[in-house]
Amino acid sequence: MPRTAIISDIHANLHALCAVIEDVQACQCADVVCLGDVVGYNAYPHECLDYIRSLGCPVVKGNHDAEAVSDGRVAMNPLARAAAEWTRAQLSAEELQWLARLPYQRIVRSSFTMVHASLEQPMAWNYIFNANDASSSFTRQFSPLCFHGHTHVPKVFYRDGAHVQDMGAELSAPLAQEGMAEVALQEGYKYFINVGSVGQPRDGDPRACYAIYDSDARCVHFRRVPYDIAAASEAVLAAGLPDRLAQRLLTGV
Ligand code: ZN
Repeated sequence: MPRTAIISDIHANLHALCAVIEDVQACQCADVVCLGDVVGYNAYPHECLDYIRSLGCPVVKGNHDAEAVSDGRVAMNPLARAAAEWTRAQLSAEELQWLARLPYQRIVRSSFTMVHASLEQPMAWNYIFNANDASSSFTRQFSPLCFHGHTHVPKVFYRDGAHVQDMGAELSAPLAQEGMAEVALQEGYKYFINVGSVGQPRDGDPRACYAIYDSDARCVHFRRVPYDIAAASEAVLAAGLPDRLAQRLLTGV
């Protein structure tokens, strides 16, 4: 299975998820993996959960998946907390149980590791914003490649010997301008790659974001996918969720 789609942080945005899966199929990916936060923030937790489960793909747990189940035990800002409480009320006991059983990390086909936030302490939900933050996760990474999400910002960190680097504009410039970016994986390096967010991007580009790992060509393709952002935003308001959650979809911050 040479081409695997890596999706993360769907956050109950069904419009974005459908558009991304359409793109995944057009790109002839053999399979999909999901890095968590299927629910939280947006209007379609039940539908997105159903969709992800129908794919039968590997999924790891995100902090919003954990909070939907744990009732106040995951640290969150008031906005995220309000959405988490609304989300919990929408889901059935069986759906909550499915979320509760998700693992925190997983190795897929002895090929790559998947985790929502960081390998250092997956249950602590640390945010990895820069190379310094990433260095602690690398000490717990036992495969050359690990994919993560959580910050909703696409990033490529790599470790060449003792040095951890952030690919920076080499990734962000083509992704913003052309809606895609290709990263060739160097032999002997370790990579810790954030695939961005399907359902609530925060890098100033409101289009959905995900990545494709091509194990034969040894590269990762990042892709931006346009979707009906206005409809997703209106659905947030119609559900009675906080206005700010509807607004941020329009600007991608
Ligand atoms: Zn998230």
